[in-house]
Amino acid sequence: MIIDCHGHYTTAPRQHEGWRNEQIEAHKAGKPAPPRPRMTDDEIRETIAGGQLKVQRERGTDLTIFSPRAAGMGHHLGDATTSEAWASACNELIHRVCLLFPKNFIGVAMLPQSARVSPKNCLAEIDRCVNEYGSVGINLNPDPSGGHWQDPPLGDRYWYPVYEKMVEYDIPAMIHVSASCNPTHHTTGSHYLNGDTAGFNQLMTSSVFKDFPAIKFITPHGGGAVPYHWGRYRGLAQDAKLGLLSDLMLKNIFFDTCVYHLPGQELLAKVIPVDNILFASEMIGAVRGVDPETGHYYDDTKRYIDQLSLSAEDKAKIFEGNARRVYGRLSGTIEKQSARAV
Ligand SMILES: [Zn+2]
Repeated sequence: MIIDCHGHYTTAPRQHEGWRNEQIEAHKAGKPAPPRPRMTDDEIRETIAGGQLKVQRERGTDLTIFSPRAAGMGHHLGDATTSEAWASACNELIHRVCLLFPKNFIGVAMLPQSARVSPKNCLAEIDRCVNEYGSVGINLNPDPSGGHWQDPPLGDRYWYPVYEKMVEYDIPAMIHVSASCNPTHHTTGSHYLNGDTAGFNQLMTSSVFKDFPAIKFITPHGGGAVPYHWGRYRGLAQDAKLGLLSDLMLKNIFFDTCVYHLPGQELLAKVIPVDNILFASEMIGAVRGVDPETGHYYDDTKRYIDQLSLSAEDKAKIFEGNARRVYGRLSGTIEKQSARAV
């Protein structure tokens, strides 16, 4: 089985994002949000069948761990109340996709975060998504201010209520920022990669992994700048007397393969142990074009893994085994959802 651990519902029916705009406009005007729009199963089916499912089939992947559109989370918009209603709507929609396509999609929850609002606010939504929807993970935004970094670093006890839930449910968090509202940071060109890199560095300089030995995080987009600068982080850990970077981080931190060229994948696989790499493409997402140098889509990352000089056993870990290990509830959920599909 080929499991893509990083996909977002970027093709949701138009009225979903339309309602979000109305909700934020109403909030600005001090009015209540309008009622949520109706979306039929057929409308949802259509957006998936002609989108992510079609691409899965074309590229030979089987299952996508699926979450709401990341740039659409918009934690910097509105307030805690609007974030709660929006997260609830987005997570419900992901659940509907998983009900319609139980063999192809398994859900990950977005959280109702807001800048400078305690992450304790997210706990009820995590409970709901795990218990009612069967979510196998969460996306945790280390910068709900959208590019101004107004919350404490991920190593701070501020975040511990969420970490306690993650351990309780055996669900990992993907460290994933949302859209940038700071014009110095392009959302997908720099803010995402900064978020990945900063999140890794924040955890490295903290005692989170001592306090939560079983916790697991995925740094997406190939880990931002981290694998390329692994020597810098090794040296920083050494200078700060934190011990060996591999001992410090690699039981708890994993890297996805959303790196959109072969040399990048080769570097990732050379620097990061195979046990810490999870296959992902983030399709249909940030980079949608065809690479004229190869004639293939940039985000067709399976092709790059296929070309790596790794054993079949190692590739199976990247494509499937590691995801089943990192997402502790995944294998059970695959069984449950497959039974529903029959
Ligand atoms: Zn993403």
